[in-house]
Amino acid sequence: MNQELKMFQETIQAFAKEKIEPVAALIDIEEKVPDALMKEMKEMGLFGVPFPEEYGGSGFGWRAQYMLMEEVAKYEGSIPSIIGAHTTIAANAIYVAGSEEQKQKYLRPLADGTSLGAFALTEPGAGSDAAGIKTTAKKEGDEWVINGTKCFITNAPSADIFVVFVSTDKEKGARGGITSFIVERGMPGLSIGKMEDKMGIRGSETSEVIFENVRVKDEQVLGEVGHAFKYAMRVMQNGRLGIASIALGLAKGAFELAVQYSLERKQFGQSIAHFQSIQNKLAEMKMEIYAIESMLYRTITLLEEGEGFNLEGSIVKAYASEKADWIINESLQIFGGYGYMKDFPIERMLRDARINRIFEGTSEIQRIVIAKEILKEASL
Ligand SMILES: Cc1cc2nc3c(=O)[nH]c(=O)nc-3n(C[C@H](O)[C@H](O)[C@H](O)COP(=O)(O)OP(=O)(O)OC[C@H]3O[C@@H](n4cnc5c(N)ncnc54)[C@H](O)[C@@H]3O)c2cc1C
Repeated sequence: MNQELKMFQETIQAFAKEKIEPVAALIDIEEKVPDALMKEMKEMGLFGVPFPEEYGGSGFGWRAQYMLMEEVAKYEGSIPSIIGAHTTIAANAIYVAGSEEQKQKYLRPLADGTSLGAFALTEPGAGSDAAGIKTTAKKEGDEWVINGTKCFITNAPSADIFVVFVSTDKEKGARGGITSFIVERGMPGLSIGKMEDKMGIRGSETSEVIFENVRVKDEQVLGEVGHAFKYAMRVMQNGRLGIASIALGLAKGAFELAVQYSLERKQFGQSIAHFQSIQNKLAEMKMEIYAIESMLYRTITLLEEGEGFNLEGSIVKAYASEKADWIINESLQIFGGYGYMKDFPIERMLRDARINRIFEGTSEIQRIVIAKEILKEASL
């Protein structure tokens, strides 16, 4: 790790400990990240870490982005989910597919933290089968008219800029029939629907986004008409490493608490850390943390070297999210009954971590991607 990155990591570690840990429980209870904290993180450039400075970003690159998500997740899961949806998929879609003009107009305010972004792909009838979206955009002169409903959209209630995926040719579907648009908050016909009441990451807003005859100009088409499915898949590769980073952070955070607790908690006249079965748990948890960390940062190296990482990204996403759940659950076990109580952060961390096996492609979908990649390579 170079010196600049090391300093970035240390800054985030200190910030997360000082500013996020003390309010983590409150974020869960109040279902909101305090405005002052959001403002401070935006001013620190944490909403545009991977993007070049010419587009309003901090210019630190993707490794720093994932470090940020991991370090914050050690204490809390909502903030990295908000930043993840904003940066790794919404803003990144504009970075990947946008014209120079769109990057200046939309990516810049997203990356410098002036605007909040949302990535709207999922619909009530199209989750894992994302190519089956039914929201449409019909061309009328130099305008497009969007109609449909998106659901489960992170950041939507507060977002200023939406990257929306719609069907522009039902027959062609994923192969030439899906187009993405940049839609701004406040456009006539755009509204926020049902707000979700979630199990975890309760400080991260999730809602429906409804489009009723929303008229957008040609300039708001993101990338090539009909070819947006590949942009969605492309940016979700970055997104998946972000999810793995959150999973790793939550797992490390819970593990550190469990180690400490095992030393402090006394039963049968000694610390529970003296019991072989507790030591075995700690050893196995540490092995999994090391495995997640190794595969995540190895995959980040592939990304940095410009190599494809579709296979590896799916492996890391599925492995990290599943093992993190297990690690946090075992941490809760080490806390005994106290782990089950809201007085301690473990139960919240377990709730916050559970989503990582679901969004940006469920574990089942990751296995489909992995198997496809294996068979593609084998049949070459
Ligand atoms: C908190 C939260 C935030 C989200 N944020 C966003 C966001 O910002 N933007 C966005 O676009 N979406 C977002 N999503 C949507 C998320 O990506 C989807 O929920 C996810 O892709 C799964 O879709 P689904 O919920 O419709 O489940 P389904 O697709 O209905 O899946 C149900 C079950 O069937 C399994 N399954 C489905 N197909 C197959 C198959 N072919 N083989 C084997 N098993 C299969 C799934 O793995 C799952 O276990 C969010 C979801 C949540 C819960």
